[in-house]
Amino acid sequence: MDISHIINELGEDRENYFNAVSPPIMQTSNFVFNKVDDLRKAFEDEMGGYLYSRGLNPTVDILRKKLAALDGAEDCLVFNNGAAAIFAGIFANIKTGDHIVSVAKPYTWAQRMFDMILPRFGITTTYIDGTKIENWKEATKSNTTCYYLESPNSWDFAIQPIKEVAAFARSKNIVTLLDNSYCSPLYQKPIEMGIDLAMQTATKYISGHSDTLGGVLSGAHDMMKKIFNSEYLNIGSGIQPFNAWLLIRGLRTMPARFERITKSTAEVVAFMKQHPKVESVLFPFDESFPQYQLARQQMKGACGLFTAVLKTNRMDTIVRFCESLKHIMMAVSWGGHESLIIPKCAGIAPADFDPSNKEHRYVRIYVGLEDPKYLIDDLSQALAKID
Ligand SMILES: *Cc1c(COP(=O)(O)O)cnc(C)c1O
Repeated sequence: MDISHIINELGEDRENYFNAVSPPIMQTSNFVFNKVDDLRKAFEDEMGGYLYSRGLNPTVDILRKKLAALDGAEDCLVFNNGAAAIFAGIFANIKTGDHIVSVAKPYTWAQRMFDMILPRFGITTTYIDGTKIENWKEATKSNTTCYYLESPNSWDFAIQPIKEVAAFARSKNIVTLLDNSYCSPLYQKPIEMGIDLAMQTATKYISGHSDTLGGVLSGAHDMMKKIFNSEYLNIGSGIQPFNAWLLIRGLRTMPARFERITKSTAEVVAFMKQHPKVESVLFPFDESFPQYQLARQQMKGACGLFTAVLKTNRMDTIVRFCESLKHIMMAVSWGGHESLIIPKCAGIAPADFDPSNKEHRYVRIYVGLEDPKYLIDDLSQALAKID
């Protein structure tokens, strides 16, 4: 389907709301019925129509149709945030005694779920280096029911051979969920590569303006219906109409923002790479990236986030660099208009900082919509302040 059609027309029903270009925010909790029979039908199949906004809502549905089409999926569900989408997608596909295989160092809240919540229900997780198909095969047990992928990872950008992992999982009846937040469906289509559940946070690129949260789970309609009728309705983590409206608005400009960010990121990465105070950069579309060939094969592009390693063994040097930036802001998240920085050492107690562990020296940079020269000047003056 044409991406311009998806963004501008799909799911919209303008004749029904005064031909307004922008859809209404259907800010209602419930929907009225005239016939008991109709109400009964709605109770029997809540996904078949509008009953109560914890389930479906017309503004949310416009977004839902667009996001499913972007993912090339039959259907999707939009959650209040990405963490909720991960939780629902996994929870719907496991039971007591099951086993999960996950990539090492998945997104924080996926890892918390695997380490803190699921063990309470007798569900165990094995973390593997997901870069090789053999590691998936070796970690799989007779009770393995889910594979958790995140490709690329959002710190070191490690990627998995998605088609191979998905095909092996299918042969073993294992459900696959892939966190596609780094690429978004504009740069990677997990469903087309055989993944069952494509997840992405909508907080980042779909919103694009750092003003709302959202999360997406796409897949086959039957799978979505199963999740809708249990976790989605029961946890009550569906997105609210106003937030859905903000995401529709964000989506209108997403390809244009991607184009700009892709270009700017290449310029900023090139600057950092040649700088004498920078040891290395990690960016999937840089030729120095360890999985560069695979990245080129399965991703249409790479943009926004990259990681830099400064030539220093000292935490205070990293701190000084981050605190010297005048325009690039220090904050979590990414995908908005504003460029951001976050040092890995912010999550490490100073006494535990170990410079021989390269990861401790990671500084993650997100390139936003500013003029790349403005960002490079900022990085340049901050690098000049460190020894
Ligand atoms: C932010 C993020 C999430 C979670 O999304 P929220 O909308 O913040 O809950 C999941 N995965 C990755 C890789 C992320 O960066």
